Amino acid sequence: MMSMERIRVAVIGGGLVGLSTALCITESLPQCSVTVISESWSPYTTGDVAAGCLIPHTYPDTSLQQQKEWFKETFDYLFKIANSSEAGEAGIYLLSGWQIFKSAPKETYPFWWQTVLGFHVMNEVELAKFPSYTFGQAFTTIKCQASRYLPWMEKRFKGNGGYLETRKVNNVWDLYGTYNVVVNCSGLGSRDLFHDQSIYPVKGQVVEVNAPWIKHFIRDGDGNTYIYPGISHVTLGGTRQKDDWSCLPNAQASKGILDRCCQLEPSLHDASVIQEKAGLRPTRSSLRVEKDILIKDEKQLLVIHNYGHGGGGFSFHWGTAKTATKILQELIPSLQNAYAKSKL
Ligand SMILES: Cc1cc2nc3c(=O)[nH]c(=O)nc-3n(C[C@H](O)[C@H](O)[C@H](O)COP(=O)(O)OP(=O)(O)OC[C@H]3O[C@@H](n4cnc5c(N)ncnc54)[C@H](O)[C@@H]3O)c2cc1C
Repeated sequence: MMSMERIRVAVIGGGLVGLSTALCITESLPQCSVTVISESWSPYTTGDVAAGCLIPHTYPDTSLQQQKEWFKETFDYLFKIANSSEAGEAGIYLLSGWQIFKSAPKETYPFWWQTVLGFHVMNEVELAKFPSYTFGQAFTTIKCQASRYLPWMEKRFKGNGGYLETRKVNNVWDLYGTYNVVVNCSGLGSRDLFHDQSIYPVKGQVVEVNAPWIKHFIRDGDGNTYIYPGISHVTLGGTRQKDDWSCLPNAQASKGILDRCCQLEPSLHDASVIQEKAGLRPTRSSLRVEKDILIKDEKQLLVIHNYGHGGGGFSFHWGTAKTATKILQELIPSLQNAYAKSKL
């Protein structure tokens, strides 16, 4: 077979999902030349607002087996980084703590219990810390500090020969001819760019505080209140407002977060507020990771979608990046054949 010049890949979106997908492609498929095109970058992406803790929520229309695999791939990948000399620069570290419930959840053992470390149902002595809760799960997971992790990925991607371009893609067909394949990691941008009306924002607000004595995470199992200690601050959350497109934090929501977190961990009364932040979780009932062929005027544009991570981007991003990369790898022979034919 004739060899081809490098396959030109455009990744739309420079958030957590776009950068991890672009990095994964450059690490696995050296025959591809990859450019990430994005309107915004860290510190102005959704991941920069997030606490970045690996505790999965579930996507109702994605199979649990698939979610289990993506979570494990992500956990194992980050676990290696956490145990390497890169951990500090990448902002990846292990974090232990408790997820607590006012009444026992349907599943004592969630699908991810064997992936995190040391998962056990809390005993009475442990639960005594949380008098209004009757059930709890203790485990060690991983936390990513986005302000370090996103620049770390960007640096590695550029080190692998990748390119970054800052601009908005108004129409995906503008990329036709310049690129052989488009990888869509535009999150909420997919609503306009790919006419996907099933993706919507769920606004989330957090308050970052200075409380260096907090060493464990605490998460109410309903997902609404959480305390996640980080490298330079503790992230307190949260809120969930469906279809709210505003990224502005709101004083009343911050007060609610502080009140609820102080109830969970009374020592936070002494914490000073550093900043309040809000972001939009790009939410869908299922994560979309699949091939798509767009057709216009007898022209074909190959697209690989990877978006809709909602409140679980950190928990699943490396797994979905690997699947998107595998889809691309499977397309390479047909791209090479098409190239060979065009040279006949
Ligand atoms: C308050 C809060 C707390 C969270 N906590 C956690 C947590 O603890 N654990 C967890 O796993 N997840 C958490 N998340 C979710 C996680 O942050 C997201 O799932 C993840 O960041 C989504 O990443 P993304 O790259 O898909 O989207 P984004 O970060 O939104 O990136 C999309 C990118 O695409 C670009 N773009 C869009 N359209 C276009 C276009 N037309 N042309 C060019 N560029 C375009 C944008 O500029 C942006 O850079 C949280 C989220 C929030 C808001």
